[in-house]
Amino acid sequence: MLFDVTIVGAGVVGLSIGKFCSEQGLSVVVLEQESRAGEGISSRNSGVIHAGIYYPKDSLKTKFCISGNKILYEYAKHKRINHKKIGKYIIATCNDDVDKLHNIYQKGIENSVPLDFLSTKTIKEISEFFLAENISDLSKLSKQDLNHNLLSIFGIGPWSVNMFEIFSIGKLDVFSSKDAGLRLAMNNSGMIKPHSSWEMYDKYASKWSPFKTIASLHLWKTVD
Ligand SMILES: Cc1cc2nc3c(=O)[nH]c(=O)nc-3n(C[C@H](O)[C@H](O)[C@H](O)COP(=O)(O)OP(=O)(O)OC[C@H]3O[C@@H](n4cnc5c(N)ncnc54)[C@H](O)[C@@H]3O)c2cc1C
Repeated sequence: MLFDVTIVGAGVVGLSIGKFCSEQGLSVVVLEQESRAGEGISSRNSGVIHAGIYYPKDSLKTKFCISGNKILYEYAKHKRINHKKIGKYIIATCNDDVDKLHNIYQKGIENSVPLDFLSTKTIKEISEFFLAENISDLSKLSKQDLNHNLLSIFGIGPWSVNMFEIFSIGKLDVFSSKDAGLRLAMNNSGMIKPHSSWEMYDKYASKWSPFKTIASLHLWKTVD
C-alpha cells in the first residue's frame, strides 16, 4: 500500500505533522517502534507550556514557543484538557544572578512575554507560607491534600509539587503506575504484558506499597 506521507516516530511532533497532513487530504502512515504512540519523551516531560522567555528574539524557538503557547491554551480549552495557567517565578538567589535576571527580563520584554518584577514583599509572603506550614506537617498530608494546598498558591504547578515531594519531604511518590515510562519498563522486564489493563499495572505496583507510585521500576527494585 502506498501513502503520500510517511512519518517515523509517533511522538507529539510526528503526530502533529500527521494530523496536519491528513487534514490536507493526504494519506499518512506513522511508524512507531514502540507498542503505542507517545511512549517517548512526549509523555515524560515536565508538562510546562513554555512562554518563550529565554531565547533570542528572532530565533525560530522563540517564534514557535510564543505562537505555540497561544495555540496550545486554545487547543486545551477547546478539547477540555485539564490545564492551569500558573505562571512562574524566576528568582536571583545570589548577587551574581541579579544581572542574569535583568537580562532574562529584558529578553522577555523583547519577546513580548507578559512578565513583571515582583516585590521582595510578595516573594516573602510566599516563602512564609512554607515556613509557617511546618514541612513535617505537609509530609503527613495525603497526595490529594498536598496538591490542594500547594496548587492553590499562584506560581506552583503539579511539577513543583512533585519536586517538593521528592526533595523536601523525601516522599518518593512521583510517577503513578500509569506513567508511560514505568509501564514500558514493566513490559520490557516481562513483569506485565503490554496492553494489560490499568488495574493489572496498579495491582502489580501495589507489591511495593507504600511505594507503589515511586519514580521508576529501578527504585522499586531497590526497595524490594
Ligand atoms: C526532561 C524533559 C522535560 C521536558 N519538559 C518539557 C516541558 O515542560 N514543556 C515542553 O514543551 N517541552 C518539554 N520537553 C521537550 C519535549 O518533551 C520534546 O521536545 C517533545 O516531546 C519531542 O517530541 P518528539 O515527537 O520530537 O519526540 P518523542 O516524543 O521522543 O517521539 C519520537 C518517537 O519516535 C520514535 N522513534 C524513534 N526512532 C524510531 C525509529 N527508527 N522507528 C520508529 N520509531 C522511532 C520513538 O519511539 C518516539 O516515540 C522536555 C524534554 C525533556 C527531556
